[in-house]
Amino acid sequence: MLPLHGTAIFSRGVSTEGPSCVVRLRSPCDLHPTSAVDFALIRSQEELQEAAHARCDSVMIVSDDGLEQLPEAAYYARLIRVPSKFSYFADGDILGFHPQSWKFRTLYRRASKHNSILVTDRCNHYCLMCSQPPKDIDDRWLLDEIKTVLPLVAKDTQFICFTGGEPLLDWREFVEVLAVSRVQLPNTAIHVLSNGRAFVQDNVVAAWSALQHPILSVGIPIYSAVDHLHDYVVQARGAFDETVLGILKLVNASKSAWCCMRSRRRVSWRRANGWRAIFRS
Ligand code: SF4
Repeated sequence: MLPLHGTAIFSRGVSTEGPSCVVRLRSPCDLHPTSAVDFALIRSQEELQEAAHARCDSVMIVSDDGLEQLPEAAYYARLIRVPSKFSYFADGDILGFHPQSWKFRTLYRRASKHNSILVTDRCNHYCLMCSQPPKDIDDRWLLDEIKTVLPLVAKDTQFICFTGGEPLLDWREFVEVLAVSRVQLPNTAIHVLSNGRAFVQDNVVAAWSALQHPILSVGIPIYSAVDHLHDYVVQARGAFDETVLGILKLVNASKSAWCCMRSRRRVSWRRANGWRAIFRS
């Protein structure tokens, strides 16, 4: 499995007022025109020299050798070195870098067909099987970071998934993210993983529908056709009723969104029939 986060070995010259600095990696020979977020991706002394010829002033070195100590490295105002286990980094990839701790996260990989972007670690469920239990933290800065990232994503990206946590907890800001996606990546299919409860609010459904995004879908899990079983799995009383009502409102109002119901367990025919009953009601 690819490591998607880590700590840099060395950094200088990188600063930001916010909690994260967005970095887009570019091959040294493809840096025109440069953006303030572009860093040349360097793996060798030769590439270090090549980036200097391209008048690049920001580099990310992927190497276990101390290339930042070479005389050529003195040219660069901003320099980050990460371990060679991140050798999968490629032109167009985007990272979030924290200048104080030198920690970084891979936000987007151009070569991947399945980029998932974390919207929040918060959630109004506490599912028994959750692989990343919700955190009670203020991570709304992630929404601003995503809005910075989307214009940098390759225009031919076929698919992006937004996930959490529950992406619709701050639904106004998240709908803004979807609007940016629609403008910046009009040909990219957007999928949102949600527990669906936000759609019980009419204004959320109205904002979602108003996007008129042509390739927007939402995946909403329901773990049982029996209300108290679903509520038990997600550890939230009343969740089943809100989720099902939300799905019905969304299906009724939106012509440009999809809803899908899925189960992480085997579904018996009786339960499947129960699901159909939900939609009939
Ligand atoms: S809805 Fe998703 S993120 Fe929230 S607790 Fe359940 S599995 Fe975890």
